[in-house]
Amino acid sequence: MSVVDNIRLVRETMAEASRRSGRDPARVRLMAVTKTVDDDRIIEAIRAGVDIVGENYVQEAKRKIYKMGNPCEWHLIGRLQTNKAKYAVRLFDMIHSSDRLELAQELDRRASAAGRVMKVLIEVNIGGEETKSGIPLASATDLVRAVAPLENLSIQGLMTMPPWFNDPEEARPFFRALRELRDRIIAEKIPRVEMRELSMGMTGDFAVAIEEGATIVRIGRGIFGERQAG
Ligand SMILES: *Cc1c(COP(=O)(O)O)cnc(C)c1O
Repeated sequence: MSVVDNIRLVRETMAEASRRSGRDPARVRLMAVTKTVDDDRIIEAIRAGVDIVGENYVQEAKRKIYKMGNPCEWHLIGRLQTNKAKYAVRLFDMIHSSDRLELAQELDRRASAAGRVMKVLIEVNIGGEETKSGIPLASATDLVRAVAPLENLSIQGLMTMPPWFNDPEEARPFFRALRELRDRIIAEKIPRVEMRELSMGMTGDFAVAIEEGATIVRIGRGIFGERQAG
């Protein structure tokens, strides 16, 4: 199937999941995840109405953004090394992978130098997996408190990647845990912290993520097909 057909199908599934769970479909946005995807197919997705493109690697994103400009928002979803913060604040509209204070402080300094306020999500390692990035659930609220005063960052919400399951229903408790964390953070009324966004759900499990409150779903294979190995 073509990129355009895939996007139509994903959007239908998104709308159904929103309806099933009594949510406003307009509050769930689709991100096309484009690591390893050719430029032409990214452009196809943007022409089909995708307005958020998610990249994992700063270097790869830099080339694409210089070439395509900003017909869409560019979000960073991959692990960010502190020494790449200076590029990241100039390239991206939002950084989903802020998961430690040291990185946040460097992003804040670099955003200040670039004269902008950078939107960030706090990435939470909701399953406590050693191989995944993200702040452990138990420390997430403390990290939000520590990042909140940094004037050139604006916390917009939370991001997670649950453990991988064959059956997406098994991911549900992890999505729910992120939503409950968000609700606890909202109840803390921490100044300057917004909790508008829950970035969760990928090709295999995005319908369940929407039922549990996702506001941004990150879809790669469901739009572009299987990625090349390596
Ligand atoms: C690759 C990736 C996705 C997309 O995964 P698919 O299974 O291709 O939909 C989403 N989020 C992150 C952080 C990723 O690295």
